[in-house]
Amino acid sequence: MAAALELDRMAIDDVGFTPERIALEIHRQLGDIAPPIPVEGIALDLDIIEIQRRPAVGYEGSLLTDPERSGGVIQVNKNSFFKRQRYSIAHELGHFLCAWHQPTSCGRFACTKRDMIVTGGDGAHARQETEANSFAIDLLAPIRFFSRYQRRLPDLDHVRDLSNLLDLSKTATTRRYVMLRPEPLAAVFCRDGIFQYVHRNPSFPWLPFKEGDRLPPAPSTGHVEGVTEMVEIDSETWLDGRRGAGLSAQVLEQQAGTRSFCCISRWPDSRSPVRFAQTCSLRTESLIRGPRFPDLSERIPCSSEQGILL
Ligand SMILES: [Zn+2]
Repeated sequence: MAAALELDRMAIDDVGFTPERIALEIHRQLGDIAPPIPVEGIALDLDIIEIQRRPAVGYEGSLLTDPERSGGVIQVNKNSFFKRQRYSIAHELGHFLCAWHQPTSCGRFACTKRDMIVTGGDGAHARQETEANSFAIDLLAPIRFFSRYQRRLPDLDHVRDLSNLLDLSKTATTRRYVMLRPEPLAAVFCRDGIFQYVHRNPSFPWLPFKEGDRLPPAPSTGHVEGVTEMVEIDSETWLDGRRGAGLSAQVLEQQAGTRSFCCISRWPDSRSPVRFAQTCSLRTESLIRGPRFPDLSERIPCSSEQGILL
């Protein structure tokens, strides 16, 4: 597979000043290939000598390389499921191709589950983990595969479809999905009703939860891989007492009774009344057609703030 790809490492290094540009150049060289993206073949074609799968404690992926990045060995946790391993390989490849990244543990990169979800923060470690994650998601989930869903209402069924299409975990797919949606949208990740973290796009408001908090009631499917209908939830509880922000929720159960997440969204406060009314009108039209919004569509007066919680 590696020989068939014939990637040009030198050209990639020449544009490699940001993780986004590196991923973009790889995709330019790959052309319009069908998903899933062959991440192992790409890594082996770009001077990764070996990808090892071993039981790992304390990290999901690691990279051993030299300062010049002449070669590298990637290790991933064989106890993690296959889609997570693919993401870990892409993340470590990001460290390898971002030549300014510095090893953080005994001369090597050793990245934990928490590192794999970092999307910001202060300090050199947070910055390079953010960049490795940015590279990984740009490599594994190019925007072109999301475009067919962008004209439809947000729906976690789309996330399931994309997760299968891209061979990417539902968690990572959801994070990508949220960031590419035009409306205010957030994904809340929890385990047994306990808040873990939230991933929200820039127009979604702050949520008043910290890790370990018990979340307010949310819908449940009662079975693994199930997706609930869209239902309204108590916005005052979810948004720390802010009234008037209608919210709805949709939940996808990932593992039996242990982990689930929901995405939420609302209309922003900052739009002008005229512009907001126009947007609301369009959304109302869409909502009427949306199979998951038959009731909600009738409750959207365009003159007031409303929202959708996915
Ligand atoms: Zn890392």
